[in-house]
Amino acid sequence: MKPPSFEYVAAATLDEALEALADTSLETRPLAGGQSLVPMLNFRLAAPERLVDLNGIEELARVEEMEDGGLRLGAMVRHRQLEHESLIAQRAPLLAETAPFIAHPQIRSRGTVGGSVAHADPAAELPAVLLTLGARVRIARRSRDGESGSRVQRTLDLHDFFFGPFYSALEPDELLATIEVPPSVAGEGTAFDEIARRRGDYALAGVAARVRLDSGGVCDDAAISLVNGGSTPCLMREAAQTLVGAQPTPEAIEAAAATCAETSDPAPDMHANEAYRRHLIRVLTSRVLSRAAARARP
Ligand code: FAD
Repeated sequence: MKPPSFEYVAAATLDEALEALADTSLETRPLAGGQSLVPMLNFRLAAPERLVDLNGIEELARVEEMEDGGLRLGAMVRHRQLEHESLIAQRAPLLAETAPFIAHPQIRSRGTVGGSVAHADPAAELPAVLLTLGARVRIARRSRDGESGSRVQRTLDLHDFFFGPFYSALEPDELLATIEVPPSVAGEGTAFDEIARRRGDYALAGVAARVRLDSGGVCDDAAISLVNGGSTPCLMREAAQTLVGAQPTPEAIEAAAATCAETSDPAPDMHANEAYRRHLIRVLTSRVLSRAAARARP
């Protein structure tokens, strides 16, 4: 199928993109890698009247180290860069570990971090992984009537960003500009794993975990998040909390994994029923917690 016709704006700067989004006379959508949006247009699941192409905006394509040692990713950083850039592998190895699970190389060459987060698909890997890492998003828009300056920006913790499937805190005139990943600290280990019917398919279920151990090997912080474990990319706080204050023994990890499966809310579909998805979540949670704890040990 061909998409419905639309007006096309190739923005060269962030301000040009924000200006196009601020003009509400036409329904406007940003175009990033196009790997979700273009199929949606072709299937007529979306019919925006104007697309603002972000691919020419150099400011959105940067990977930078922040002053505190964290990582700032421009929205247009490609999945492929997560896989191959050494700064990302050093600062946020969980992103490099996860990227090869996303679709196929051709899609990873075009698809972007910002597009994946903005799309808010509960089946996508990056939103879940970024939740585990405690990421924040910086959102920009052009000033509205009565506001001073030309640009307004706000920062949100990612766990406040997802409202529902394909539904986020982004307003129609807003653009996700950057994603900030806090620095990893000593004693921290991370891991990701998923089960898909075929390599490159969307996962039936996936789990990301972060575990921090003190010098005595006791867990003093943990985070777990799920791919396809609920109606939004979700943090499993209750399950993670069961590990805090304890040694990550096989028994403690099994208990956290069981809590994670019980408190998840996976939806059944033609590929897997709810019980099977919960089973996958339990097995994967146990696996990634064990791996993350082993990596956290000195
Ligand atoms: P686009 O498709 O360009 O945009 C997606 C949506 O986000 C649109 O609504 C757009 O307007 C909005 N948007 C984009 N950028 C911004 C921004 N900066 N600010 C505000 N809104 C923005 N993904 C996975 O996670 N896992 C998979 O296994 C997987 N498998 C795939 C298999 C196939 C065959 C295909 C075609 C895609 C698959 N994807 C998968 C999706 C892929 O990862 C997409 O790249 C990603 O979901 C969206 O990124 P994008 O840059 O292509 O965004």
